[in-house]
Amino acid sequence: MSAGASNPLPPVVVGAGPAGIRAAQTLAAHGLRPVLIDEAARGGGQIYRRPPAHFERSAQTLYGTEAARATALHGTLDALQGRIDYQPDSLVWNAQGGLLDVLHGPTQTTRTVAHGPLIVASGATDRVLPLPGWTLPGVYTLGGAQVALKFQGCTIGRNVVLMGTGPLLYLVAYQYAKAGAGAGVKVAAVLDTARFADQWAAVPGMLAQPAVLAKGLYCVGWLRAHGVPMHTGIRPVRVLGNGRVAGVAWNDGRQERVLPCDAVGLGYALRSETQLADLLGCRFAWAPLQRAHLPERDGAGRSSVPGVYLAGDGAGIMGADAAEWAGERAALALLADQGVGVDAARAAALERRLAGLVRFRRGLERAFPFPDGWAAQAPDALVVCRCENVTAGELRACARDAGADEMNRLKALTRVGMGRCQGRMCGVAAAEILAQARGLPVEQVGRLRGQAPIKPVPIHWQARAAEPQGAAMEPGA
Ligand SMILES: Cc1cc2nc3c(=O)[nH]c(=O)nc-3n(C[C@H](O)[C@H](O)[C@H](O)COP(=O)(O)OP(=O)(O)OC[C@H]3O[C@@H](n4cnc5c(N)ncnc54)[C@H](O)[C@@H]3O)c2cc1C
Repeated sequence: MSAGASNPLPPVVVGAGPAGIRAAQTLAAHGLRPVLIDEAARGGGQIYRRPPAHFERSAQTLYGTEAARATALHGTLDALQGRIDYQPDSLVWNAQGGLLDVLHGPTQTTRTVAHGPLIVASGATDRVLPLPGWTLPGVYTLGGAQVALKFQGCTIGRNVVLMGTGPLLYLVAYQYAKAGAGAGVKVAAVLDTARFADQWAAVPGMLAQPAVLAKGLYCVGWLRAHGVPMHTGIRPVRVLGNGRVAGVAWNDGRQERVLPCDAVGLGYALRSETQLADLLGCRFAWAPLQRAHLPERDGAGRSSVPGVYLAGDGAGIMGADAAEWAGERAALALLADQGVGVDAARAAALERRLAGLVRFRRGLERAFPFPDGWAAQAPDALVVCRCENVTAGELRACARDAGADEMNRLKALTRVGMGRCQGRMCGVAAAEILAQARGLPVEQVGRLRGQAPIKPVPIHWQARAAEPQGAAMEPGA
């Protein structure tokens, strides 16, 4: 059967990370010419982020044990040149009525892309829980700290504390300590809110992916062997400094301790970037394992909206291998739904592999649990939403005095999540505070609805986007 017979519009893939690249590759292999859109200048996604073209560090230096995988994925994308319509530097900031609004960064123009079937592979970002002092210059997310290193070969400071929990905590510590050796950059400490007992108890589950577990253990062993201080079961107290970071205060379970540093990397695992799925009308459900409302997808990646498929971390954090498998699986589902013959055995094998990862995922959650007491311990003066300067106390007062018991009501009354980040940074924390203030389970306070623009775009582009579709628009025109 000829490919793409039933829909005249090309399939579109949003996101050129592991999930999106494998999806585009699979569609191209079946004779389609998909559009692949990514806001980054070079495809690869988060884990296999590529530095600017003129940077010349080896794959081994950049990606360590993942160098072969990174090179293979980049090679796949490069080899697709001419067979797909690849649109880098392009942020999809809205999705409505079969159209995507796309902002091209370098030329500062916006355009609309009409889409047929759509695969959303939008990935993840850091899950952030604020603490007093987190708005000081010198505080980064763990992912941001890693991006600085991977993309630009820079560190966020010379004496860095990494704090929070999750596998990225130890990975970034290892990457910083290794890259910094000989360059005068040191990791002052790794401060993990998870307890060592939890990590030990999680080992059986994590054996479902022995190679990944081995890499994690290697990082920890390397850090220990190189004398990097690591503390588990801690409670972050505050970031210290006057005008910029000068240290961190934390509680080791017995007493408060202070450690000087000039930068902090902070994060509590990852959260899925679900805004596009939301704008596309996908149904969401509470996912207890991920402690998040996520767009529903079946084992093949079909969402609740016909013609919309979800792949990779954007619909639930499962890691880079799973993202590649899910991207391919979603593309096979798309093809089958278009009447294109696909290899059913391959599709079934991919689904089995993905299902097999759930045990590992449970292990990770056991090893690096969400810090349950966080909301109760957050002081009233803590700025939760830095864009709109909304404090934990204001959120609690709104819950108490105005009866807000749902996130969108809280947003309307306090402006939390209404600023530049659109709740991508503060949404998790605000939901935890609201749930704690109302004595509700966090799933019951709901989630912030996605709103366009899902990421900041200059205001004149939005105004012009309301005009008739088609032509590219110049800034200030
Ligand atoms: C900062 C960060 C660092 C990480 N580092 C590691 C690591 O070192 N090792 C590890 O094992 N795992 C790491 N992870 C997790 C790992 O990156 C993911 O498991 C994996 O990359 C998921 O692949 P994906 O294709 O689903 O998403 P991603 O790799 O996140 O790719 C998503 C792509 O979608 C694009 N995109 C998103 N929204 C839009 C939009 N609206 N318009 C256009 N393009 C869009 C992004 O630019 C990105 O290229 C990291 C995650 C993050 C967030």
